[in-house]
Amino acid sequence: MLKSFPLDQETPAGKAIMGRLGKFPIPQKGFPPAYKTYIDFNMSDSYERLLEGNRIFVARKNHEDPTFFQRLSVGQQPKYLWIGCSDSRVPNDQITSTNPGEIFTTRNIANLVDHTDMSMLSVLDYAVNHLKVDHIIVCGHYSCGGVRAAMSNQHHGLLDNWLRNIKDVYRLHHEELDAITDVDERERKLVEFNVTEQVFNVCKTSIVQQAWVDNKSHLPRVHGWVYDVANGEIKRLHVDYQTDAEFHDIFRFSDK
Ligand SMILES: [Zn+2]
Repeated sequence: MLKSFPLDQETPAGKAIMGRLGKFPIPQKGFPPAYKTYIDFNMSDSYERLLEGNRIFVARKNHEDPTFFQRLSVGQQPKYLWIGCSDSRVPNDQITSTNPGEIFTTRNIANLVDHTDMSMLSVLDYAVNHLKVDHIIVCGHYSCGGVRAAMSNQHHGLLDNWLRNIKDVYRLHHEELDAITDVDERERKLVEFNVTEQVFNVCKTSIVQQAWVDNKSHLPRVHGWVYDVANGEIKRLHVDYQTDAEFHDIFRFSDK
């Protein structure tokens, strides 16, 4: 597989990597005169390429910012919680051009927010009550295999129980969805409805409800986005909440 990695030829780390990759041709023509250049090399699909990729990552980061890892080792202060799909095509830091340390993250199939999912609840609680993130982003994506599977009547084994959550989203919006004759369009609409419902689910958790009641100075804001794997763009949906005013009283808590 042919891959490209930015590499600094002038630093010791860059030279060391170039030395390891010495058997591969290094293009010299047509590259900017600056120290940064790009090399293409063949690497097998084995796990080794991940380790080599890590070495390149470390070298690049150390060159860009020699204190980068030292700073991160002190702790994290992310401003964002990202609830996304596990799909390999939606790496939240890459598609938002952010660095390690900037986004607290939980991902699962089809970016669901299930109020019985202890993993998700623990992440949400830590993000809201300890890290005190400013923004909670539920980001779905078009061409989501989970959403597609939930739209079908096919068995997918254990996964069917997880996808049942999406079937419920379909049931809630079946009139609008059934009216869309184009299957791809219907699927895209279900992706959007699914994000919207998961945003509602975040807002309805005791964690966010309590934060909105207790922390008048710090109100986490919940957003719903959809990423398009076909063009790399993020679309903001019209779901954006920082108060419980739009939610039924039944979800509110009071210590009185
Ligand atoms: Zn997905």
